[in-house]
Parts: sequence; C-alpha cells; structure tokens
Amino acid sequence: MKACIIDLDSKLRCYDISVGYKREINEAFIEIIYCSLNPLINHPEIYKNRKIEKPFIIGSEAVGYIKEVNENTSLRAGDRVIVYPWIFCNLCPRCIAGLEYLCELGFLLGCFRDGLCREHIVLPIRNLVKTSSEIPLEIASTLGFTGSTAYHIYNTIITRGGRNIAILNALNPIGIYLIQLLSSSGMNVITVSHERDTEYLINHYDIDRAISFSDINVLESLNIDTAILIVDPLCNISFNTSILSLKGRLVILDVLNLSKYKIDLSGICKKEIEIIGCRGSSRYDLIQCMNYAKRGILKPRILGIYGMYEYHDIWKLLTENYTNGSILIKI
Ligand SMILES: [Zn+2]
Repeated sequence: MKACIIDLDSKLRCYDISVGYKREINEAFIEIIYCSLNPLINHPEIYKNRKIEKPFIIGSEAVGYIKEVNENTSLRAGDRVIVYPWIFCNLCPRCIAGLEYLCELGFLLGCFRDGLCREHIVLPIRNLVKTSSEIPLEIASTLGFTGSTAYHIYNTIITRGGRNIAILNALNPIGIYLIQLLSSSGMNVITVSHERDTEYLINHYDIDRAISFSDINVLESLNIDTAILIVDPLCNISFNTSILSLKGRLVILDVLNLSKYKIDLSGICKKEIEIIGCRGSSRYDLIQCMNYAKRGILKPRILGIYGMYEYHDIWKLLTENYTNGSILIKI
C-alpha cells in the first residue's frame, strides 16, 4: 500500500508499506480518494518539534469509498464517506456528552498516530459520515477537520450573540471557512491579517473590513462583539492582552505548539479575559458543516492538487505558503 509518510528525518516521502488488515465487526474497509493537508496542523515545523514516533502516515482529513462493511449497519459498500478524524471510545463521560473530540482515550488521526494519506484504511464505522455527490470530492476532503472546526467556532459565536466579529490571522483554511459561515449568516466580519494578505481577503471574500496587523489598534474603535485569534504553528503573530480586552472575547488557541507561545497570563487574569481553547469538533459539527457545503457556502482555498509521489512539491508548498490554504493529495 502506498502512503505519504513523515520519515525518520521529519521529512515527507511516499513509499510502499506492507500492512495487514483485520476488520472487526464494527469497522469498515475504506479506499481513500482525496486527502487534504491543512498547514495549521501539517506544517513541517510541527513534525520537527512534536514528540511522535516516526515514521508515521500523515493526513487528518480525507474522503473515500467504503469497500467492505458488515450488513447490519446503515452504511453500504460503495458509499462515499468523509472521515471524522478523532478516534474516540464512545463510552467515557465526554463521549456520552457528545464531546467525542475531547475523549479521554481519544486522538487525532495523522497528528499523533498514523493518518489518512494512504490508499486504504480500516476505521470504526462511527468515524464515517456518509456524503452525497452534491459535495464535490475536493471540498468533501477538507471538511473532516478544517470545515468541522470552523463550524464549531461559528456555532460558539452564534450562541453568544453579537454582530461584529473580528478574525485575527484570518487567511488560513479555518479562517476562510469561518468568514464564509459568518457572512452567510449576515454577520459583519472584520479580518486582521498580515499586510500581504489584506487585499486578497477583500477581493475574494464577503468581509466588511480588512485590517493589517500594523493597524490593529483600529479594532478598539470598531465595537467588536467577539474577537477570534487563530494561532498558526510558528506563532507568526505577536499579540498582547490589549488585543484581547475587547468586549466579548473569544480566543482560539491551537494546542499543537503551545509551549512556544508567550502569553501574559497575569494580564489575562487581571482583565478577566476569557480564553476558550478549540482543538476540534464533534460529528454533529461535521454534519452541520456538510449542510453548508451542500448549499455552496463553503469554498476552500486550494493551493494545489498533487499525486502522492509529488511529495517534494507538497512539502515545499507547506513550508512556503503555510497557513493560507489547503493542499489536496489525490490518492
Ligand atoms: Zn471517550
């Protein structure tokens, strides 16, 4: 079986591995069609730093077809499925509460264990969500992690109320989906990004205002209800608590390289700034974001579509253009 692998030297390669498959009664055998890499979780720097046993198979989101499954489930061979990438026990209190992405025994495929950039895989049936041809395969492959996490954030914002939303570090796969979800609901979206990205955001998305990081103080005068910060793996943004002391504070912290971040905790405590960590989404979020994709609302920014053996180009793209789009791998 061919697979894209983070090798012992922390670089990406594609080669044949021999694997034996044993399918249990509650599992399905899947042929992967597209795997999508999101630079927020697949940046080369992460693999260098993370304590993870290598080599391991990359890829946390994918779409494919079921090849084999038991007859006593609602899924059938030939069904097109999106992989829900958090493996969970389905028994612990968090799983029972519908927070399967926070399962005490759980993990994210392709992040801490072998992932989805491979020809086939056996997965629990509960990790598969059937999708129709209404969602193109290329888009479907970006929903398992990127789309569902964006929906999770969006749903939190909607629940809290407010109309003026600022997205800090907006040009990345999750930020793009978040802009599309918020503007489809009639929210005022203000993006804050690196100077080079400002014009692109204005030209391509339905946003009310695009501000560069150098003008971030303007935010203070804009009556923001919620500010969201999407942290990228290199922590390319320096921020202080004054940015966070806006009315209604929601901060999304990616947990991957948290040790690198310098956060003024005492300042956060003094101002009673609320921090909400976001490290994923439930199957409910995935299904909801699929509904938005069906309606044509979610359009990913795809940096390129590659074959598995084009791993040199994929790696280069991940390094050079990190955080601003998805990279698709046709399996
Ligand atoms: Zn659990």
